[in-house]
Amino acid sequence: MAPRTETREPLPTVTEDTLLNEAMQCPTDRPLDTRPLAEERAFAFWQKDIPERYWRLDAPQIIARIAAARRRLGSRCVVLGHHYQREDIIQFADVRGDSFKLAQWASRQPQAEFIVFCGVHFMAESADILSQPRQKVVLPNMSAGCSMADMADPEDVYACWDELAEAGITDVVPVTYINSAASLKAFCGRNGGIVCTSSNAPRVLDWAFQRGPRPNDRSNTPKVLFFPDQHLGRNTGLKRGVALDEMPVWDYTLPYGSLGGNALEQLERSRVILWKGHCSVHLRFSPEQIEKARREHPGITVIVHPECRREVVRAADLDGSTEFIAKTIAEAPSGSKFAVGTEINLVSRLARENPDKLVFCLDPVVCPCSTMYRIHPAYLCWALEELAEGRIVNQVELDDDTRRDARIALERMLAVK
Ligand code: SF4
Repeated sequence: MAPRTETREPLPTVTEDTLLNEAMQCPTDRPLDTRPLAEERAFAFWQKDIPERYWRLDAPQIIARIAAARRRLGSRCVVLGHHYQREDIIQFADVRGDSFKLAQWASRQPQAEFIVFCGVHFMAESADILSQPRQKVVLPNMSAGCSMADMADPEDVYACWDELAEAGITDVVPVTYINSAASLKAFCGRNGGIVCTSSNAPRVLDWAFQRGPRPNDRSNTPKVLFFPDQHLGRNTGLKRGVALDEMPVWDYTLPYGSLGGNALEQLERSRVILWKGHCSVHLRFSPEQIEKARREHPGITVIVHPECRREVVRAADLDGSTEFIAKTIAEAPSGSKFAVGTEINLVSRLARENPDKLVFCLDPVVCPCSTMYRIHPAYLCWALEELAEGRIVNQVELDDDTRRDARIALERMLAVK
């Protein structure tokens, strides 16, 4: 490719705040087709160090090069594709699924030296936790995080834990959704806690409640500290008969000593303390959208992800993980109709793969997960071509203590029937 000679605009200054704010906004109403990186202005500050020779490649060029790099790497490399990835990534995935299914699958591929995870950062960390020591995990774009996971900063969680202990509330089992930093999974491993996914959260909650009260606990009621997603925690608690007023929300933005905005008595009689995190994609769904879908398509089944708000889950016919949603639609009889409340790339794919059924997204606005979206195929191309040349870029590698303790929490989850 000829070198570029035109003058480029200076890149904007990037701070953590700008990144987080940007992640909270959806790139609405864009087509989902791949455009060259140079036309995706946001990528200029998402991971700037991708070599310039990749910036102007169009979709057919990138796809041909990814295919060539994959052929060179052969069985030394596996590519994992999360359900929310775009089609130009999914077509190269050896397996697609939710984060836990992908990490588990990768751990059973001993021939693979490289695990290229097309998803977000916490998923690549989970793959590293479950991988074999000789395997290397690569995330094509290191700025592909998860805005929900970022809402549980480990320091804020440790501070909450200390505040609860100072208040005499010690009978707490920390439960982290898999969408969280590896350091928080390790925290759970060290403190008698556990990891959950959106599939097994109710069973994990049962496990946590079955643990006996600790001798010095002031309230004598077993409790769960659930982070980072308040909505999954609340929806799961309700499924297990926990009352709304037994699930206070811990506002991590308040100063130390504020008890997360709760009265001590409220915390003492609580059963699930919910971290004030959310997924910006799933917050877009509303009961009004459900009403509209039912009005326009009588007999339709509304199926949503449990990261949606309580009102949405309550109004829907079914709720469950991405795996559950995909399986339910695939197994439904021909002619079935589904309005789906989850990320648009998955919904569009389900519609394409089930042409004998009506499948559409509850939200009429095209709104992909903006952090998943950062795995632009040019990044996958770059990561694979580097691996084929014997160089590793963007390796996600945890320290031994974090990996060991996080694995304990994951293994507790695997043992939950
Ligand atoms: S859809 Fe929500 S929870 Fe999933 S990766 Fe995107 S921001 Fe995170």
